[in-house]
Amino acid sequence: MPSNVSRRKFLYAHSVALLATQLPSPAQTATATAKPAGPLAKDGSKAVPGKPGKWVRWGDLERQQLGSAVDQPSLFYWQGKGANKQTALFIERFKQYCPREHVVTCSSGTAALHIAVAAAGIGPGDEVITTPITDIGTIAGILFQQGVPVFADLEPATYNLDAKSVERCITPRTKAIIAVHLAGTPCDLAPLQALAAKHRLVLIEDCAQAWGARYRGQPVGSIGHVACYSLMNSKHIAAGDGGVVASSDPKIGPALLKFSDKGNERTNPQYTWDKTEVLASNYRMSELQAGFSAAQMTRLEKIAAKRAALGRVLIEAISDLPAVVPPLLHPQDRGTFWFFYFRLRVERLRGTRKEFADALRAEGAPCSAGYIPVPLYKLPYFQKHGFFAGRWPIKELGLTKMDYAKVTCPEAEAILATGVNCVLNESMDEPYIREVGAAVRKVAKRFTI
Ligand SMILES: *Cc1c(COP(=O)(O)O)cnc(C)c1O
Repeated sequence: MPSNVSRRKFLYAHSVALLATQLPSPAQTATATAKPAGPLAKDGSKAVPGKPGKWVRWGDLERQQLGSAVDQPSLFYWQGKGANKQTALFIERFKQYCPREHVVTCSSGTAALHIAVAAAGIGPGDEVITTPITDIGTIAGILFQQGVPVFADLEPATYNLDAKSVERCITPRTKAIIAVHLAGTPCDLAPLQALAAKHRLVLIEDCAQAWGARYRGQPVGSIGHVACYSLMNSKHIAAGDGGVVASSDPKIGPALLKFSDKGNERTNPQYTWDKTEVLASNYRMSELQAGFSAAQMTRLEKIAAKRAALGRVLIEAISDLPAVVPPLLHPQDRGTFWFFYFRLRVERLRGTRKEFADALRAEGAPCSAGYIPVPLYKLPYFQKHGFFAGRWPIKELGLTKMDYAKVTCPEAEAILATGVNCVLNESMDEPYIREVGAAVRKVAKRFTI
C-alpha cells in the first residue's frame, strides 16, 4: 500500500464488502455447534507473554489542582462570577476541546443525559429513539421525563445506530434521537442529522465512551444539538464520578443549567428563587470534582491519540481472518477505543464464542466474550413495563402503546451474541497490541473450519 490512508480506505472498503456478503444471520448464530478447541502450543508459549505497563491515570497534576481547591473558602460550583475557579477552569478547557456555547458540569453521565432530554422538552408520551446496546444511563432520563425510549437496530460492525432503522422508528410522537458513540467509535451522524432536520427532532450525542473521538474531523459532541459526557471512574478521563452536558442550541443551551440545579438559574443575575418554573433534580458537580476534571482534561489528547493509534493497529492485524470481523471505523474518523470489540463469524468456527475467548485468555490476551448480556429492552423492568414502583403511568393513561416484550433488534442481538471484547488502554504500546493481534490470529487459525 502506498500510504497509511489509502491502506485504511482499502481496509474499510474491504470490510464493508465482506460484511455485506458474509456476516451470519441471527438464526445462524444461534445454532453454532460446539466442537472442542485445539490445544495450546506444546511448549506452553503464549502469544502475549507479558503484561502492559502500569496504568497510571492521575498524579501530581490532579494533586496540585485539588490543593488549590482546598485553599478556597467554598467548594460549591457557583459563588458569583469569577469565584467558582475550578468549575470555570474545567468549562474553559472543555470548550477548547469541544466548542459549545453553553457547558454545564454535573454529577454523572446519566445526569447529563437526563438534563439533555429535560432541556430538549421531552414530556409524557414523547418518543426518543436510541440504541439497545448502551449503558442504562442513556435511557433513564427519558423514562424519568415520562418519555418513551424506542429502540432502533444497529449497523453490524460499528455497533452504532443504523439510520435506516431509526427512520423506520419515526412517528408523529418522535421528539429526539440519542446517538451513542459506542466503545469510542463515532456514530454516523450525517444521516441522523438529516433525519433530525427533516422531522424537527433533537439530536443528542452520548459521548460517555468516546472522549477524544472525531467524526469527519470534528470532536464528537460538537455536531448534534446536545453533547453528553461522563467522568465516571472507568471512562477515558475521570473524576471518580462526574458529567458534562453542552449545547449551542439557542433554546436548549440556556435551559441546561436549571435542569442540573433543582430549577435554579444561579448564574442569571435576573433570577430569583420564586421564578423557578421546572421540576429538576440536584445534579451539581462540586469544585473538587471540577478541579480534578480540569487537570484530567490536560491528559485527554495524549490518551485519545494513543488509544486511536493502538485500535487502528489491532484492526489491521486481524482484518484478513475469514472467521473474524474487526470493528468498522470510517477512514476519516478517529475512534478512541474505550474497549475493542470484534465479531466472530460463528458459522466459520469449530467451538463456541466462549471457547474462542477462553483460548484468547489462555494466550495471555485480555479478552472476554460479549459486552452487556442482553439488549436493554430484555431487562425485566422493560419486559414488565414496571418503571415506577412496578407501574408505567403513561401506558396506563394511554399515552403510549409501547410493548417492550414485542421489541426485537436482530442485528443488536447478533452483535451481542457473536462479539469478543478486548481491553485496550493507554498503558499498552504497539508491540503489546501486535501480540494481542497475533493471539487473535493464532486462536482464529485453530478454530476456523
Ligand atoms: C458510562 C455511560 C453512561 C453513564 O455515565 P455515568 O457517569 O456512569 O452515569 C451513559 N452512556 C454511556 C454510553 C456510558 O458508557
